[in-house]
Amino acid sequence: MNKKLAIYPGTFDPVTNGHIDIVARALDIFDEVIIAVLVNGSKEPVFSVKERLALINQSTAHLRGVKAESYDGLLVDYLKSKNCNVVLRGLRVATDLEYEFQLATANNMMDPGIETVFLMTSANYVFLTSSVVREAYSHGGLLPKFVPPAVHEALINKFKK
Ligand code: ADP
Repeated sequence: MNKKLAIYPGTFDPVTNGHIDIVARALDIFDEVIIAVLVNGSKEPVFSVKERLALINQSTAHLRGVKAESYDGLLVDYLKSKNCNVVLRGLRVATDLEYEFQLATANNMMDPGIETVFLMTSANYVFLTSSVVREAYSHGGLLPKFVPPAVHEALINKFKK
């Protein structure tokens, strides 16, 4: 039987417990998940792609069937190169929906074989975004319940004066 693979694309600057929760739950549905970090996504990321990949690897070491890669260019081309037709995305609040709907529709129009699968966030992580985390740590705030330990340490070091 073919292994079922899903690709979870995003910026992951940095990966949070909300992302990890989506991946862990997706592994009950899929055999493998590739967390795909978009190169050149945000203009001034806090963490380089290399750092983001390392943090994802450390934060998913306890999960079987996950790996992290970077990709550049169109997601549909990256999916093709992996022989994969499933995009995994997380949904938090209603405001995510419009953007996600646009993305999923665009990808499906470029390649009708592609399906986007959404998992709803767990209640604890509804308001958790990478940007809230970056903002908090940049001003000396700590959110250890919302980020993996490696990310917590990396954020403290990054913003150390
Ligand atoms: P992007 O910049 O492409 O939105 P992110 O790294 O912010 O990338 O997020 C990647 C995916 O993870 C998106 O589908 C986003 O909705 C989802 N996600 C982010 N934070 C959470 C969370 N707290 N709970 C569930 N899904 C989340």
